[in-house]
Amino acid sequence: MNEREKWSRFCPKCGKKTDELFDSLCKECFTKEIRLIEAEELEIRVSVCENCGGYFKGKGKERTSIEEVVVDSVRKEIRKRYGYECRVEVAGLGKEIKADENRASVSLDVKAEIKGVEIEERGEVEVIFKKETCDRCSKIAGGYYVGIVQIRAEDRIPTDEELAMAEEIAYSSLGEEDFVSEERTLKEGLDIYVSSMDCGRRISRWIVKKLGGSFSESRKLYGRKDGRNIYRVSFSVRLLGFGEGTLLEIEDKVVSVEKVIKGKGMECVDMNTGERVFLRKKETKNAKRKIVVLC
Ligand SMILES: [Zn+2]
Ligand SMILES: [Zn+2]
Repeated sequence: MNEREKWSRFCPKCGKKTDELFDSLCKECFTKEIRLIEAEELEIRVSVCENCGGYFKGKGKERTSIEEVVVDSVRKEIRKRYGYECRVEVAGLGKEIKADENRASVSLDVKAEIKGVEIEERGEVEVIFKKETCDRCSKIAGGYYVGIVQIRAEDRIPTDEELAMAEEIAYSSLGEEDFVSEERTLKEGLDIYVSSMDCGRRISRWIVKKLGGSFSESRKLYGRKDGRNIYRVSFSVRLLGFGEGTLLEIEDKVVSVEKVIKGKGMECVDMNTGERVFLRKKETKNAKRKIVVLC
């Protein structure tokens, strides 16, 4: 490139001579034309659940946050106007929910690189709320469940303490989208109705890890939806039976199990008198294990 050619370029807007043109304008004029945050052109909507207050969007009713929706919309809008290759960074978000609770204003810093020029802007956009019920809340209301965690014990009835712990474990292993839609106390144990297969498996695994025993899964075809089979899964959790060395409370006695005779009963020693006692299988059903937590 020779000297003459270099200086023959100029900005048609301000007349400045330059060898650097962006969209045929000088850098200053080009930058002046750009508006990163065009609040009037942006219509940002997000659904808010009337029941739990959670934010979500789209047909899939995916969970989101006001900030996430704003960043996404601003980035999309800038790319639509200035090219999909633009690098856009959004930071410094501050939101204020308006008194009528139907909208929020969000302030933000936007930095973008457009045709090689870095531009920064601080502005404010508005987010409009649409009140709806989220997927999770409508499922809970409808008693939806995918699996049942059935807590039982081998040759005995689980103790109240064990069931209380199992319940606590169940609630603390729920993921963000999971829920328990029902609990049924039965004479042989507890059934917990859960929203997903994963969560049922996770709960079962934790109960077994904390209280001992084992679990198995079985699924039944429940119906078909959108051409796919829908299953319901039972997680059968079996807490340990009374093993050797277990301390049992039976009526007013505490006994230690010496030997388990399968199908018949147990040979025990009374902890107070040292007397040997034989408990028939039927009798042991009502015995209470002195609870031992494994970990
Ligand atoms: Zn210019
Ligand atoms: Zn909700």
